[in-house]
Amino acid sequence: MADNFVALMKQQQALLATAKKRQGLLPQERTTRREMEQEYERTGRSHLTVQHGNHLIKQTFVGEAYKPSTAEINDLKLICLRDLRLETHHDGRLLLVRVFCNAVRITAVQTGFEDEHDHVERLAVYNTDTSLSPSQTLPRGSVLAIKKPYYKATSDGGVIVRVDHPSDFVVLDEYDPIIPLSLRPRVQAVEEDRTAAEVKKEGNIAVGMKQYRKATKLYTIAIALCAEEDEVLRRDLHRNRALTNHHIGHYEAAHADALAAVILDVNADDTKSTELNTKASLRAGRASYDLGHFEDAARMFTEANRTHTDNDVNIELARALDRLRESKTGSFGFLSDRFLGALPPRLDCASFVKNTEVRASPGRRKGLFAVKSFSAGDLILCEKALCSSLGSDDGQTTNMTINLNTKRMSVGTHASLHTKLVTQLQRNPKQASAYFELYDGTKSSSILPASTAHPPVDVFHVQSILELNAFGLQDAPPEPSSPSTKSPKKALRPANDSTAIFLRASYMNHACDANAYRTFISDFLILRATRAIAMDEELTIAYTRPDPASLDYGSTFSHWGFTCECVVCKAELHPKGSISHRRKVVKEADDFAASPANEASDKVTPTKAQVAAAEKLLKRVEGAYRQPGFAPGVPKLGVTAIADWLMRACMLDSTEPGKCIELGTTVLSSLGFVPSIVFGELVIDRTHCVVKDVVVDTAVYLSQLYEVVEGKDSMVSAQYAVWAEEMWEICKGSKRGFEHRYGA
Ligand SMILES: [Zn+2]
Repeated sequence: MADNFVALMKQQQALLATAKKRQGLLPQERTTRREMEQEYERTGRSHLTVQHGNHLIKQTFVGEAYKPSTAEINDLKLICLRDLRLETHHDGRLLLVRVFCNAVRITAVQTGFEDEHDHVERLAVYNTDTSLSPSQTLPRGSVLAIKKPYYKATSDGGVIVRVDHPSDFVVLDEYDPIIPLSLRPRVQAVEEDRTAAEVKKEGNIAVGMKQYRKATKLYTIAIALCAEEDEVLRRDLHRNRALTNHHIGHYEAAHADALAAVILDVNADDTKSTELNTKASLRAGRASYDLGHFEDAARMFTEANRTHTDNDVNIELARALDRLRESKTGSFGFLSDRFLGALPPRLDCASFVKNTEVRASPGRRKGLFAVKSFSAGDLILCEKALCSSLGSDDGQTTNMTINLNTKRMSVGTHASLHTKLVTQLQRNPKQASAYFELYDGTKSSSILPASTAHPPVDVFHVQSILELNAFGLQDAPPEPSSPSTKSPKKALRPANDSTAIFLRASYMNHACDANAYRTFISDFLILRATRAIAMDEELTIAYTRPDPASLDYGSTFSHWGFTCECVVCKAELHPKGSISHRRKVVKEADDFAASPANEASDKVTPTKAQVAAAEKLLKRVEGAYRQPGFAPGVPKLGVTAIADWLMRACMLDSTEPGKCIELGTTVLSSLGFVPSIVFGELVIDRTHCVVKDVVVDTAVYLSQLYEVVEGKDSMVSAQYAVWAEEMWEICKGSKRGFEHRYGA
């Protein structure tokens, strides 16, 4: 795949260079109105797809970055279509056009438009809300204001006006005075005729027809028309708009509207006002709930409940109080009915982050720190995803996003997560400003303070942050490879991969011997301590694990722009002379253990020859690790697979429990869990531990083996049993499922 990626990158760069040659020119040929109408009659083709093995690969290219316009429409100078130059961003300019074709969704939403001189051109708007149909995004007959128009030569030799930032285009209200006469609707009421009350009525009709976007727009117009002294009408409009804003996902705006609708100093016997206030409180509470602001939600529902006792309000209040309690105590009841059985892909849970804090981290930009001490296995943090994209939505397709700006490739649901995020951030500016604080890969990513209430969302910036901060929900975080890394072994990730953004957890830096381990239940991240953590210690997780059998061990983290300085990496990369030998032996051992020909299970008992070969391999691998950096307690990750294989083979034999115990101990030690028996009690040194699922199985085996050797009352056996459950909790987030797998 990596070679493929380099070729694709080069191909796209060449296309870009060819297009660039036309910079500043006018197009030689122009499409006619007739041709365009025919073109958009047909439905669009899909993304560029290629077959790879059994499934499809969908490729998305992120083109050359540019900034969105920050100007207001009225501050921009009009430009005519015929004056547009190719490959140019017309900064400070505004194009006013009318859509005259049906819109279609190809990668972008595309259509044809005309300007006031009757000239026509194609338009492609990228990164728009995918929950809207093309005709809702670019309605036929509507007039658009396109800021900073970008005229682009396409790879097939055509030309197009391209909009990457959704904030760079506005569907104008048909009465907007900026619209030139020739583009206005043929039949038009005169704006002055409409009163705020009339527009409000139109808005209410739109609500009745569930046209919440239209209704929001109408209420906004009505608020502008509303006389200053007409407090009652103004509050009605805000109250109504709180509802419609909520429906279209503008939660921050819905909350502000609900608060603006509250009537102050209401008398107890003024039932009408009390009722209206109840409505406003409910709407504010619901908006807060969906923003994850549960304290405010609970307060608002309590207020609503005070004036209007109703079972539904009670349920909403109870739900908000549950979330509030979760966020304060971190007690989620993972073993309760709520978490039994199959769970929905997105959980209704609060984030519990109060025991962590984002601070400057020496040598890295920022990091996440513990504000209290933790014992091994303790819950440190739980976080609900800000936004997630589920692989199940995409079926049997693997998505590949290639970014020409950052030269990074991401495999997984990044493309759809990007579109979703852009839409969500655009709707909720406060969430957007928190998102843009995240690391974007550049040295100085200081964000200028926003000058307006609705700062434009830079889609390229969203993308570069996403590449470095998205978590893979099933597995390790996504492993995008940079073109410099030649790693043919890296297989494509499964097609059902899901990705999500977690604002707090994103601040954690990497260490191979991390002090914290993160896992997921649906779109909910659970972080537990892998060992004791002191107050003010930096929290770390393993982004991914370098492969001890790989020759490019040291370059695993180049994508994120750092080199790992942990004891494991330091030891693995020294001394230079021993590295290639160790990699070779480890690869041989890993291949042996993974080979289907060497199956060791309930069904297949390995032959004596196989066991002898494995014993030889284990000796060789252990020998290769006899180097100064690998002090006792430092993980020797190349040992794990072969020692685990031998332990399983040995368990099937059951004649030598002592030997099995030795092998189990080797497995644990290879991962930095060093067990010793002190005065008959089990002590495990885990200073540099590396958490892997195999630890749980091994601990369960050791518990059984000690029982065989020492009898029913074995203290060590009991301690291993307890420890296995603790490790399961770290690996899986909760104790859920442990009994089912291992029995009581
Ligand atoms: Zn490391």
